[in-house]
Amino acid sequence: RKLRVGLLFGGNSSEHDISLLSAASVIRHLDAEKYDVFPIGITREGVWLPGIKPVEFIAAEDHMHSSQTSGQKNFETFPEALTLSIKLSTPGEGLDVVFPVLHGQNGEDGTVQGLLELADLPYVGCGIMGSALGMDKEKARLIFRSLGLPVVNSLSYRSSIWKISPERILDAVEERLGYPNFVKPASLGSSIGVSKVYDRGGLRRAIQNAVEYDHKFLVEQAINCRELECSVLGNDEPMVSAVGEVFYTGEFYDYYAKYQDERSHTVVPASISPALVEEMRFLAIQAFQALDLSGMARVDFFLERETEKIFINEVNTLPSLTNQCMYSKLCEYSGLPYTHLLDRLIELALERHAHRH
Ligand code: ATP
Ligand code: MG
Ligand code: MG
Ligand code: MG
Repeated sequence: RKLRVGLLFGGNSSEHDISLLSAASVIRHLDAEKYDVFPIGITREGVWLPGIKPVEFIAAEDHMHSSQTSGQKNFETFPEALTLSIKLSTPGEGLDVVFPVLHGQNGEDGTVQGLLELADLPYVGCGIMGSALGMDKEKARLIFRSLGLPVVNSLSYRSSIWKISPERILDAVEERLGYPNFVKPASLGSSIGVSKVYDRGGLRRAIQNAVEYDHKFLVEQAINCRELECSVLGNDEPMVSAVGEVFYTGEFYDYYAKYQDERSHTVVPASISPALVEEMRFLAIQAFQALDLSGMARVDFFLERETEKIFINEVNTLPSLTNQCMYSKLCEYSGLPYTHLLDRLIELALERHAHRH
């Protein structure tokens, strides 16, 4: 019998649209000889729609927004999502494994992972803690720093304290970091809410913007850098890919550069010295293990131009997962074509689940 794969996509997240792109690609490339795919779309409001494909899902979402209908037959609200996931986990008749192709909040951050743990369903990617730590740039950085891994100087604050003492925060940033710097929400992706700032007025506006997205934000020293990325795949003995580089025009790798600007591109393998490659690969594994990750992660680096110093920027536990994106390209370059990568991710999910029992 084929393996029944539940594929979660969409989601109540700022990165909803990116998830649809990833999911469409994953569905198209999952080996039909091996898997029966059961897609479950999640709307921006968090409504679970079982049995719908990404393309039909977009139409259904448009329909929901236009007609304001609710309580329709297969429109599951959250309590039903719980029931659904338990039902889908019934041995023999339900799903064998879940593939959360979700980015950002309510999907990449440990929440859905917790639901799947409760339902006792194996799932692709990191567990609860790894997902939560990977998503939270403040906590990830704290751990990296405490282990002596290289990270950029940064400050972080609760959005609530910004509302009480903005001038103190602006003073602290100027005194401790200076300009230019980057402001970002603590737990987001796709560069949403990220700004580069050059002066106090810009800093104020950037923080004002970041606090709209999240209850915490970071301010970091801006590094004049090249941007390199590495794929890690595995559980206890993860494999690490070659290193790739992203190129873009403009100030930084923002949302437009990532998904819309035709001039952006990636190069695999990056043209850097073997010594730098080795250092990055080693740091990628250390970062992966430091945060208790499993399954997969894309580890992103800054390579400072003047000094050739490497900084770990962040890990992404559910990176963009189309066949064209950096994570898959790096795996492909390292000998694992996209369809086999998807096989391997599912295998790793089943292995991790089996080890826990
Ligand atoms: P992803 O889509 O990879 O999940 P993200 O939304 O989590 O990204 P970051 O990777 O933290 O956000 O930042 C987005 C981009 O902003 C980086 O790729 C880089 O171009 C720029 N950037 C962020 N922080 C810095 C920094 N300290 N110095 C230089 N550039 C930075
Ligand atoms: Mg990220
Ligand atoms: Mg991300
Ligand atoms: Mg990033």
